[in-house]
Amino acid sequence: MDIHEYQAKELLKGFGVAVPRGGIAYSPEQAAYRTQELSGDKWVVKAQVHSGARGKAGGVRICSTETEVMDAAAYMLGRKLVTHQTGPQGKLVGRLYVEEATNIAQEIYLGFVLDRTEERVVVVASSAGGMEIEEISAHEPDTIIRSVVDPAVGMEAFQAREIAFQLGLDPVLIPQAVKTIIGCYKAFSALDATMVEINPLVVTGAGEIVALDAKLSFDDNALFRRPNISELRDKSQEDPRETFASDRGLSYIGLEGRIGCIVNGAGLAMATLDMIKMAGGEPANFLDVGGGASPERVLKSFRAVLNDPKVEAILVNIFAGINRCDWIAEGVIRAVRELDLKTPLVVRLSGTNVEEGQKLLADSGLNITTAETLAEAAEKVVAAWKATASGMAGGTA
Ligand code: GDP
Ligand code: MN
Repeated sequence: MDIHEYQAKELLKGFGVAVPRGGIAYSPEQAAYRTQELSGDKWVVKAQVHSGARGKAGGVRICSTETEVMDAAAYMLGRKLVTHQTGPQGKLVGRLYVEEATNIAQEIYLGFVLDRTEERVVVVASSAGGMEIEEISAHEPDTIIRSVVDPAVGMEAFQAREIAFQLGLDPVLIPQAVKTIIGCYKAFSALDATMVEINPLVVTGAGEIVALDAKLSFDDNALFRRPNISELRDKSQEDPRETFASDRGLSYIGLEGRIGCIVNGAGLAMATLDMIKMAGGEPANFLDVGGGASPERVLKSFRAVLNDPKVEAILVNIFAGINRCDWIAEGVIRAVRELDLKTPLVVRLSGTNVEEGQKLLADSGLNITTAETLAEAAEKVVAAWKATASGMAGGTA
Protein backbone atom coordinates (compact mmCIF):
# COMPACT_ATOMS: atom_id res chain seq x y z
CA MET A 1 0.00 0.00 0.00
CA ASP A 2 1.14 3.51 -0.84
CA ILE A 3 0.32 6.69 1.07
CA HIS A 4 0.46 10.38 0.26
CA GLU A 5 3.54 12.57 0.62
CA TYR A 6 2.09 14.59 3.51
CA GLN A 7 1.22 11.40 5.40
CA ALA A 8 4.71 10.03 4.81
CA LYS A 9 6.25 13.27 6.08
CA GLU A 10 4.08 13.22 9.20
CA LEU A 11 5.18 9.64 9.96
CA LEU A 12 8.87 10.33 9.29
CA LYS A 13 8.74 13.42 11.48
CA GLY A 14 7.81 11.10 14.33
CA PHE A 15 11.14 9.32 13.76
CA GLY A 16 13.19 12.50 13.91
CA VAL A 17 13.35 13.36 10.20
CA ALA A 18 13.12 17.12 9.59
CA VAL A 19 10.38 18.18 7.14
CA PRO A 20 9.10 21.60 6.04
CA ARG A 21 6.02 22.95 7.81
CA GLY A 22 2.83 22.55 5.82
CA GLY A 23 -0.89 21.91 5.85
CA ILE A 24 -3.44 20.04 3.80
CA ALA A 25 -6.03 21.81 1.62
CA TYR A 26 -9.14 20.58 -0.18
CA SER A 27 -10.06 23.91 -1.77
CA PRO A 28 -8.31 27.06 -3.07
CA GLU A 29 -9.65 28.98 -0.04
CA GLN A 30 -8.14 26.45 2.34
CA ALA A 31 -4.87 26.67 0.43
CA ALA A 32 -4.88 30.45 0.90
CA TYR A 33 -5.63 30.00 4.58
CA ARG A 34 -2.59 27.72 4.87
CA THR A 35 -0.32 30.48 3.57
CA GLN A 36 -1.53 32.79 6.37
CA GLU A 37 -1.07 30.05 8.92
CA LEU A 38 2.47 29.33 7.69
CA SER A 39 3.34 33.01 7.16
CA GLY A 40 6.53 33.66 5.13
CA ASP A 41 6.63 34.91 1.54
CA LYS A 42 6.96 31.77 -0.61
CA TRP A 43 4.95 28.58 -0.60
CA VAL A 44 4.85 25.34 -2.55
CA VAL A 45 1.51 23.88 -3.64
CA LYS A 46 1.84 20.13 -4.12
CA ALA A 47 -0.73 17.77 -5.65
CA GLN A 48 -1.21 14.76 -3.39
CA VAL A 49 -1.37 11.74 -5.67
CA HIS A 50 0.25 8.34 -5.36
CA SER A 51 2.94 9.07 -7.90
CA GLY A 52 6.34 10.64 -8.20
CA ALA A 53 7.45 12.95 -11.02
CA ARG A 54 4.63 15.36 -10.16
CA GLY A 55 6.95 18.33 -10.61
CA LYS A 56 7.42 17.70 -14.33
CA ALA A 57 3.68 17.12 -14.74
CA GLY A 58 2.57 20.44 -13.22
CA GLY A 59 1.76 19.01 -9.80
CA VAL A 60 4.30 21.08 -7.83
CA ARG A 61 4.18 24.86 -8.00
CA ILE A 62 6.21 27.46 -6.14
CA CYS A 63 4.14 30.59 -5.42
CA SER A 64 4.96 34.04 -4.05
CA THR A 65 1.47 35.44 -3.47
CA GLU A 66 -1.76 34.19 -1.98
CA THR A 67 -3.44 34.67 -5.37
CA GLU A 68 -0.86 32.45 -7.04
CA VAL A 69 -1.49 29.80 -4.39
CA MET A 70 -5.23 29.94 -5.02
CA ASP A 71 -4.71 29.78 -8.78
CA ALA A 72 -2.39 26.79 -8.47
CA ALA A 73 -4.89 25.09 -6.17
CA ALA A 74 -7.81 25.78 -8.50
CA TYR A 75 -5.80 24.41 -11.40
CA MET A 76 -4.74 21.19 -9.65
CA LEU A 77 -7.82 20.20 -7.63
CA GLY A 78 -10.21 17.86 -9.42
CA ARG A 79 -7.73 17.34 -12.23
CA LYS A 80 -6.25 13.98 -13.23
CA LEU A 81 -2.52 14.43 -12.95
CA VAL A 82 -0.74 12.42 -15.63
CA THR A 83 2.88 11.66 -14.78
CA HIS A 84 5.06 9.11 -16.50
CA GLN A 85 4.40 6.83 -13.51
CA THR A 86 0.58 7.02 -13.50
CA GLY A 87 -0.15 5.79 -17.03
CA PRO A 88 -2.27 7.82 -19.47
CA GLN A 89 -5.39 7.73 -17.26
CA GLY A 90 -3.60 9.76 -14.56
CA LYS A 91 -4.53 10.07 -10.88
CA LEU A 92 -7.18 12.29 -9.39
CA VAL A 93 -5.99 15.24 -7.32
CA GLY A 94 -8.38 15.41 -4.38
CA ARG A 95 -6.14 17.19 -1.90
CA LEU A 96 -3.15 19.46 -1.84
CA TYR A 97 -0.28 20.01 0.50
CA VAL A 98 0.78 23.62 0.99
CA GLU A 99 4.26 24.02 2.40
CA GLU A 100 6.60 26.82 3.31
CA ALA A 101 9.10 26.99 0.42
CA THR A 102 12.60 25.76 1.09
CA ASN A 103 15.74 27.45 -0.15
CA ILE A 104 17.70 24.60 -1.74
CA ALA A 105 21.51 24.51 -1.69
CA GLN A 106 21.91 20.82 -2.54
CA GLU A 107 19.65 17.92 -3.51
CA ILE A 108 20.36 14.37 -2.35
CA TYR A 109 18.69 11.05 -3.11
CA LEU A 110 18.05 8.73 -0.15
CA GLY A 111 16.20 5.45 -0.52
CA PHE A 112 15.62 2.33 1.57
CA VAL A 113 14.50 -0.81 -0.21
CA LEU A 114 14.30 -4.49 0.48
CA ASP A 115 16.92 -6.33 -1.54
CA ARG A 116 15.60 -9.83 -2.14
CA THR A 117 18.96 -11.26 -3.12
CA GLU A 118 20.70 -9.85 -0.06
CA GLU A 119 17.61 -10.55 2.10
CA ARG A 120 18.38 -7.24 3.77
CA VAL A 121 17.32 -3.63 3.78
CA VAL A 122 19.64 -1.71 1.49
CA VAL A 123 20.24 2.01 1.65
CA VAL A 124 20.73 3.68 -1.72
CA ALA A 125 22.00 7.25 -1.70
CA SER A 126 23.35 9.71 -4.23
CA SER A 127 24.59 13.26 -4.22
CA ALA A 128 22.75 13.70 -7.56
CA GLY A 129 19.26 14.01 -6.02
CA GLY A 130 16.25 15.65 -7.61
CA MET A 131 16.14 13.32 -10.59
CA GLU A 132 14.67 9.86 -10.31
CA ILE A 133 16.84 6.95 -9.27
CA GLU A 134 16.53 5.39 -12.75
CA GLU A 135 17.92 8.59 -14.28
CA ILE A 136 20.68 8.76 -11.66
CA SER A 137 21.75 5.20 -12.46
CA ALA A 138 21.68 6.00 -16.18
CA HIS A 139 23.49 9.36 -16.03
CA GLU A 140 25.40 9.51 -12.74
CA PRO A 141 26.03 5.86 -11.80
CA ASP A 142 29.30 6.70 -10.03
CA THR A 143 27.46 8.81 -7.45
CA ILE A 144 25.40 5.86 -6.20
CA ILE A 145 26.20 4.56 -2.74
CA ARG A 146 24.81 1.21 -1.53
CA SER A 147 24.93 0.14 2.06
CA VAL A 148 23.46 -3.11 3.39
CA VAL A 149 21.91 -3.08 6.86
CA ASP A 150 22.46 -6.02 9.18
CA PRO A 151 19.00 -6.77 10.60
CA ALA A 152 20.45 -8.11 13.86
CA VAL A 153 21.79 -4.70 14.86
CA GLY A 154 19.84 -2.35 12.59
CA MET A 155 21.23 0.90 11.23
CA GLU A 156 24.05 2.00 13.47
CA ALA A 157 25.45 5.50 13.80
CA PHE A 158 28.82 4.59 12.26
CA GLN A 159 27.13 3.17 9.17
CA ALA A 160 24.91 6.24 8.75
CA ARG A 161 28.00 8.45 9.24
CA GLU A 162 29.85 6.53 6.53
CA ILE A 163 26.97 7.13 4.09
CA ALA A 164 26.90 10.82 5.00
CA PHE A 165 30.65 11.15 4.40
CA GLN A 166 30.41 9.28 1.09
CA LEU A 167 27.78 11.80 0.01
CA GLY A 168 30.46 14.42 0.42
CA LEU A 169 28.49 16.41 2.98
CA ASP A 170 30.08 19.23 4.93
CA PRO A 171 31.24 17.81 8.30
CA VAL A 172 28.97 20.21 10.21
CA LEU A 173 25.97 18.55 8.48
CA ILE A 174 26.95 15.00 9.43
CA PRO A 175 25.01 14.79 12.74
CA GLN A 176 21.79 15.93 10.99
CA ALA A 177 22.35 13.49 8.13
CA VAL A 178 22.95 10.64 10.59
CA LYS A 179 19.74 11.49 12.44
CA THR A 180 17.82 11.51 9.13
CA ILE A 181 19.25 8.20 7.90
CA ILE A 182 18.66 6.44 11.22
CA GLY A 183 15.16 7.95 11.46
CA CYS A 184 14.24 6.63 8.01
CA TYR A 185 15.57 3.19 8.80
CA LYS A 186 13.65 3.07 12.09
CA ALA A 187 10.46 4.12 10.28
CA PHE A 188 11.10 1.44 7.66
CA SER A 189 11.39 -1.38 10.16
CA ALA A 190 8.92 -0.17 12.81
CA LEU A 191 6.12 0.44 10.29
CA ASP A 192 6.60 -2.67 8.12
CA ALA A 193 7.49 -0.56 5.11
CA THR A 194 8.74 -2.02 1.85
CA MET A 195 10.22 1.27 0.71
CA VAL A 196 11.21 4.66 2.07
CA GLU A 197 12.34 7.20 -0.50
CA ILE A 198 13.34 10.80 0.13
CA ASN A 199 13.96 12.54 -3.17
CA PRO A 200 15.14 15.12 -2.76
CA LEU A 201 16.61 15.26 0.71
CA VAL A 202 17.98 18.79 0.67
CA VAL A 203 20.60 20.87 2.33
CA THR A 204 18.99 24.28 2.77
CA GLY A 205 20.70 27.62 2.34
CA ALA A 206 20.64 27.88 6.13
CA GLY A 207 22.56 24.62 6.50
CA GLU A 208 19.73 22.35 7.51
CA ILE A 209 18.92 18.89 6.19
CA VAL A 210 15.25 18.59 5.28
CA ALA A 211 13.14 15.94 3.52
CA LEU A 212 11.50 17.92 0.71
CA ASP A 213 9.63 14.91 -0.66
CA ALA A 214 8.78 11.55 0.91
CA LYS A 215 7.44 8.29 -0.36
CA LEU A 216 6.50 5.33 1.83
CA SER A 217 5.12 1.97 0.74
CA PHE A 218 3.93 -0.71 3.11
CA ASP A 219 3.74 -4.47 3.14
CA ASP A 220 0.05 -5.30 2.61
CA ASN A 221 0.48 -8.54 4.54
CA ALA A 222 1.50 -6.61 7.66
CA LEU A 223 -1.31 -4.05 7.57
CA PHE A 224 -3.44 -6.10 9.95
CA ARG A 225 -1.04 -5.17 12.72
CA ARG A 226 -0.68 -1.51 11.66
CA PRO A 227 -4.19 -0.08 12.02
CA ASN A 228 -2.91 3.51 12.02
CA ILE A 229 -1.22 2.86 8.67
CA SER A 230 -4.21 1.03 7.10
CA GLU A 231 -6.28 4.05 7.95
CA LEU A 232 -4.15 6.15 5.58
CA ARG A 233 -5.32 4.16 2.57
CA ASP A 234 -6.80 6.37 -0.17
CA LYS A 235 -8.89 4.26 -2.53
CA SER A 236 -9.25 7.14 -4.99
CA GLN A 237 -5.60 6.53 -5.91
CA GLU A 238 -6.01 2.83 -6.65
CA ASP A 239 -7.11 0.93 -9.75
CA PRO A 240 -10.85 0.47 -8.97
CA ARG A 241 -10.69 -3.13 -10.21
CA GLU A 242 -7.95 -3.90 -7.68
CA THR A 243 -9.81 -2.13 -4.86
CA PHE A 244 -12.94 -4.20 -5.61
CA ALA A 245 -10.91 -7.44 -5.52
CA SER A 246 -8.77 -6.66 -2.49
CA ASP A 247 -11.86 -5.61 -0.51
CA ARG A 248 -13.08 -9.17 -1.13
CA GLY A 249 -9.82 -10.77 -0.05
CA LEU A 250 -8.74 -11.74 -3.58
CA SER A 251 -5.24 -11.55 -4.95
CA TYR A 252 -5.83 -9.60 -8.17
CA ILE A 253 -3.79 -7.35 -10.43
CA GLY A 254 -5.46 -5.43 -13.23
CA LEU A 255 -3.92 -5.65 -16.72
CA GLU A 256 -4.76 -4.11 -20.08
CA GLY A 257 -6.21 -6.96 -22.17
CA ARG A 258 -9.69 -8.44 -22.60
CA ILE A 259 -9.29 -12.03 -21.41
CA GLY A 260 -10.20 -12.44 -17.74
CA CYS A 261 -8.33 -15.13 -15.81
CA ILE A 262 -9.18 -17.17 -12.74
CA VAL A 263 -6.31 -19.42 -11.74
CA ASN A 264 -5.07 -21.15 -8.60
CA GLY A 265 -1.54 -20.38 -7.46
CA ALA A 266 0.53 -17.34 -8.34
CA GLY A 267 3.01 -19.35 -10.44
CA LEU A 268 0.33 -21.03 -12.51
CA ALA A 269 -1.44 -17.68 -12.87
CA MET A 270 1.74 -16.14 -14.30
CA ALA A 271 2.22 -19.11 -16.65
CA THR A 272 -1.40 -18.74 -17.76
CA LEU A 273 -0.84 -15.08 -18.66
CA ASP A 274 2.18 -16.13 -20.73
CA MET A 275 0.21 -18.88 -22.49
CA ILE A 276 -2.59 -16.47 -23.38
CA LYS A 277 -0.03 -14.11 -24.88
CA MET A 278 1.63 -16.93 -26.79
CA ALA A 279 -1.76 -17.86 -28.21
CA GLY A 280 -2.10 -14.29 -29.48
CA GLY A 281 -4.26 -12.81 -26.72
CA GLU A 282 -3.87 -10.25 -23.95
CA PRO A 283 -4.89 -11.01 -20.34
CA ALA A 284 -7.16 -8.56 -18.50
CA ASN A 285 -5.94 -9.54 -15.07
CA PHE A 286 -3.92 -11.77 -12.81
CA LEU A 287 -6.11 -13.54 -10.24
CA ASP A 288 -5.03 -16.24 -7.83
CA VAL A 289 -8.06 -17.88 -6.16
CA GLY A 290 -5.71 -19.58 -3.70
CA GLY A 291 -5.80 -23.08 -2.25
CA GLY A 292 -8.96 -24.83 -1.01
CA ALA A 293 -11.17 -22.36 -2.85
CA SER A 294 -14.84 -22.79 -2.01
CA PRO A 295 -17.62 -22.38 -4.60
CA GLU A 296 -18.33 -18.98 -2.97
CA ARG A 297 -14.75 -17.88 -3.53
CA VAL A 298 -14.92 -18.92 -7.17
CA LEU A 299 -18.14 -16.93 -7.51
CA LYS A 300 -16.45 -13.91 -5.94
CA SER A 301 -13.57 -14.28 -8.38
CA PHE A 302 -16.01 -14.18 -11.29
CA ARG A 303 -17.51 -10.99 -9.87
CA ALA A 304 -14.05 -9.41 -9.62
CA VAL A 305 -13.11 -10.42 -13.18
CA LEU A 306 -16.43 -9.19 -14.59
CA ASN A 307 -16.14 -5.93 -12.67
CA ASP A 308 -13.67 -4.97 -15.40
CA PRO A 309 -15.89 -3.80 -18.28
CA LYS A 310 -13.14 -4.65 -20.78
CA VAL A 311 -13.43 -8.40 -20.15
CA GLU A 312 -14.86 -10.24 -23.17
CA ALA A 313 -13.77 -13.83 -22.53
CA ILE A 314 -12.83 -15.77 -19.38
CA LEU A 315 -10.39 -18.56 -18.74
CA VAL A 316 -10.56 -20.65 -15.58
CA ASN A 317 -7.41 -22.70 -15.13
CA ILE A 318 -7.13 -24.94 -12.08
CA PHE A 319 -4.46 -27.45 -11.23
CA ALA A 320 -5.97 -28.81 -8.05
CA GLY A 321 -3.75 -30.06 -5.24
CA ILE A 322 -5.33 -28.62 -2.11
CA ASN A 323 -8.18 -27.40 -4.27
CA ARG A 324 -10.98 -29.69 -5.38
CA CYS A 325 -12.11 -29.60 -8.99
CA ASP A 326 -15.70 -30.42 -7.97
CA TRP A 327 -15.84 -27.32 -5.75
CA ILE A 328 -14.39 -25.20 -8.50
CA ALA A 329 -16.91 -26.62 -10.99
CA GLU A 330 -19.71 -25.90 -8.53
CA GLY A 331 -18.49 -22.32 -8.22
CA VAL A 332 -18.24 -21.96 -12.01
CA ILE A 333 -21.79 -23.26 -12.48
CA ARG A 334 -23.13 -20.94 -9.78
CA ALA A 335 -21.34 -17.99 -11.36
CA VAL A 336 -22.75 -18.71 -14.83
CA ARG A 337 -26.28 -19.05 -13.40
CA GLU A 338 -26.29 -16.33 -10.73
CA LEU A 339 -24.44 -13.74 -12.80
CA ASP A 340 -26.29 -14.74 -15.97
CA LEU A 341 -22.92 -15.00 -17.68
CA LYS A 342 -22.92 -14.31 -21.41
CA THR A 343 -19.15 -13.94 -21.72
CA PRO A 344 -17.45 -16.89 -23.53
CA LEU A 345 -15.97 -19.17 -20.89
CA VAL A 346 -13.23 -21.79 -21.11
CA VAL A 347 -12.52 -24.06 -18.14
CA ARG A 348 -9.55 -26.31 -17.71
CA LEU A 349 -9.56 -28.55 -14.65
CA SER A 350 -6.81 -30.90 -13.59
CA GLY A 351 -5.87 -32.75 -10.39
CA THR A 352 -7.94 -33.62 -7.31
CA ASN A 353 -11.50 -34.77 -8.10
CA VAL A 354 -11.13 -33.86 -11.75
CA GLU A 355 -13.66 -36.48 -12.96
CA GLU A 356 -16.32 -35.19 -10.55
CA GLY A 357 -15.62 -31.63 -11.64
CA GLN A 358 -15.80 -32.39 -15.33
CA LYS A 359 -19.01 -34.37 -14.83
CA LEU A 360 -20.63 -31.43 -13.02
CA LEU A 361 -19.76 -29.11 -15.89
CA ALA A 362 -20.97 -31.58 -18.54
CA ASP A 363 -24.24 -32.30 -16.69
CA SER A 364 -24.97 -28.62 -16.12
CA GLY A 365 -26.10 -28.15 -19.70
CA LEU A 366 -24.41 -24.73 -19.67
CA ASN A 367 -22.40 -23.32 -22.53
CA ILE A 368 -18.93 -23.92 -21.09
CA THR A 369 -15.97 -24.88 -23.25
CA THR A 370 -13.60 -27.30 -21.54
CA ALA A 371 -9.95 -28.03 -22.22
CA GLU A 372 -7.49 -30.72 -21.14
CA THR A 373 -4.21 -28.83 -21.17
CA LEU A 374 -3.16 -25.28 -20.44
CA ALA A 375 -2.02 -24.71 -24.02
CA GLU A 376 -5.35 -25.95 -25.37
CA ALA A 377 -7.24 -23.77 -22.86
CA ALA A 378 -5.27 -20.67 -23.86
CA GLU A 379 -5.86 -21.32 -27.54
CA LYS A 380 -9.56 -21.92 -27.00
CA VAL A 381 -10.08 -18.75 -24.96
CA VAL A 382 -8.19 -16.62 -27.48
CA ALA A 383 -10.26 -18.18 -30.30
CA ALA A 384 -13.45 -17.51 -28.31
CA TRP A 385 -12.42 -13.89 -27.83
CA LYS A 386 -11.55 -13.52 -31.53
CA ALA A 387 -15.10 -14.61 -32.34
CA THR A 388 -16.54 -11.70 -30.31
CA ALA A 389 -17.35 -8.36 -31.92
CA SER A 390 -14.23 -6.56 -30.74
CA GLY A 391 -12.12 -9.64 -31.43
CA MET A 392 -13.33 -9.70 -35.03
CA ALA A 393 -12.68 -5.98 -35.29
CA GLY A 394 -9.04 -6.86 -34.62
CA GLY A 395 -8.55 -4.84 -31.44
CA THR A 396 -6.02 -5.94 -28.86
CA ALA A 397 -7.21 -8.96 -26.96
P1 GDP B 1 8.00 14.91 -7.43
O1 GDP B 1 8.22 15.62 -8.72
O2 GDP B 1 6.68 14.20 -7.38
O3 GDP B 1 9.13 14.01 -7.06
O4 GDP B 1 7.86 16.06 -6.29
P2 GDP B 1 8.97 16.74 -5.36
O5 GDP B 1 8.35 16.96 -4.05
O6 GDP B 1 10.25 15.97 -5.35
O7 GDP B 1 9.21 18.14 -6.06
C1 GDP B 1 9.77 18.20 -7.36
C2 GDP B 1 10.87 19.24 -7.39
O8 GDP B 1 10.31 20.52 -7.07
C3 GDP B 1 11.97 19.02 -6.37
O9 GDP B 1 12.95 18.13 -6.83
C4 GDP B 1 12.50 20.42 -6.18
O10 GDP B 1 13.47 20.69 -7.16
C5 GDP B 1 11.28 21.31 -6.43
N1 GDP B 1 10.76 21.78 -5.14
C6 GDP B 1 9.85 21.19 -4.34
N2 GDP B 1 9.67 21.90 -3.21
C7 GDP B 1 10.50 22.96 -3.30
C8 GDP B 1 10.81 24.06 -2.44
O11 GDP B 1 10.29 24.22 -1.33
N3 GDP B 1 11.71 24.97 -2.88
C9 GDP B 1 12.34 24.84 -4.08
N4 GDP B 1 13.21 25.73 -4.44
N5 GDP B 1 12.09 23.81 -4.91
C10 GDP B 1 11.18 22.88 -4.52
MN1 MN C 1 10.43 13.82 -5.54
